[in-house]
Amino acid sequence: MSVQSLSNARTKTVATVGPASITPDILKKLLHAGVDVFRINMAHGSRESHELAVANIRSASETTGLPAGILVDLAGPKIRLGQLTQNPLVLNNGDEIKFVRGTESKSDNELTSIYEPLIDEVKIGDAIVLADGLARLSVITKEKDHLVCRVNDGGAIRSRQGVNLPGTHLSVPALGPVDRDNAKWAAGQGVEFVSLSFVRNAEEIKELQSLLAAENSLAMVIAKIEKREALDALDSIVEATDGVMVARGDLGVEIDIEKTPAAQKRIIKTCLRFRKPVIVATQMLESMHASKQPTRAEVTDVANAIHDGADACMLSGETAIGEYPVEAVQMMNKIMTETEKSLSQQRARMRSEDYASAWEISDAVIFGAAHIAKRIHAKMVVIASRESEIARIKSKQRDLIPTICITDHPNCYRRMSLFWGVTPVLCSSPFQQDELLSFVNQWASSNEDLQTGDHFVVVTDTDLLPGVHDSVLVAQID
Ligand code: PGA
Repeated sequence: MSVQSLSNARTKTVATVGPASITPDILKKLLHAGVDVFRINMAHGSRESHELAVANIRSASETTGLPAGILVDLAGPKIRLGQLTQNPLVLNNGDEIKFVRGTESKSDNELTSIYEPLIDEVKIGDAIVLADGLARLSVITKEKDHLVCRVNDGGAIRSRQGVNLPGTHLSVPALGPVDRDNAKWAAGQGVEFVSLSFVRNAEEIKELQSLLAAENSLAMVIAKIEKREALDALDSIVEATDGVMVARGDLGVEIDIEKTPAAQKRIIKTCLRFRKPVIVATQMLESMHASKQPTRAEVTDVANAIHDGADACMLSGETAIGEYPVEAVQMMNKIMTETEKSLSQQRARMRSEDYASAWEISDAVIFGAAHIAKRIHAKMVVIASRESEIARIKSKQRDLIPTICITDHPNCYRRMSLFWGVTPVLCSSPFQQDELLSFVNQWASSNEDLQTGDHFVVVTDTDLLPGVHDSVLVAQID
């Protein structure tokens, strides 16, 4: 039996797979370095490369014996510039430039986009942000077939770079035909998580959940919060979704960049209230694209995300196209384990039992189990569950007692790779109480963190023991 250490980082690491990391050899190294979930970004690559990524991740996980969830990230309605006449095209402050219909500029004074109704939906005074904030325009006049815009912040832009329309309500659906097709593909691959970009309301999340359910997928839906409209509807989105990503890249363009730290804290707090896992994403160790060392500011950013209550931190280009993917994951995990040492002082603030919950019984039982474990100096809490709900609730409680969650369901096992402080363990056969205790003993015998005589507290999920809701029992390693 391959056994994970109980002293691994509690905060989970999500790493984006790309040309720098897609080979089985690098994926194995990344798993050993501490990756819990691999993200496949559907905005890049082909169906062929995405299929290769899934196959290589599954085989790396199997050969290392380390669990790995897969997150398929749907691009959503990302608007991009059309073809420019020059690359780059330099826009200077005060210039006037036209947005015209079509996807190819005919002169240096014209911009186009892949979003056909852009000219109809933008209003006079609206902002148009290009290339992740490199250039900012405002609309000064609007005609039937073009907009005239003033360049407020100049910069050098390139064909196909992003276009954000922060103040404009777009008619485009969050889940377009390409996203629907990719979601069906993800369901067919049996992935654990599917995220949706540019979510604006809870209905869009429910639509993706229904699509996945119709495909018999158990994937958790992750809402990427990166639009002002999503912040306005935050409670209902978090309530509906299965997990959240603070997508700081686009969020920092859609709202004023200086407002992103407060938005991050608010999103994380809302996820704590609804017991939903939350990933903090983008530029966490950005400088490690080309450097073996991160900046002090990046290290502090990761630590602050953990103090805010993030369940997971994500690496994007660092592992997808960077020069040091393995070093970036190792560094992420070093920062996590070090930061977690100072978390106990924060515990009172993070206690989720202060919030009303839709899972009242599980919440109370799991809080009681952690209390018992603390009181008797138990070495770990063991959760036995066919689904992952109780492990998710335990993870949001943020006590520091090592927790393993044993399941006989492979998808549930991999899904738990996103849950803070939970070590997933796969047990091949369904279990009764005596089987469960002997399985834990066997597991403990090859774990260097545990010894004979150590106590542990077991929590079983509803109906795992016949006729019993959740149950708690205390046992000892023999
Ligand atoms: P992206 O999403 O990597 O797909 O842009 C994350 C973000 O916007 O921060």
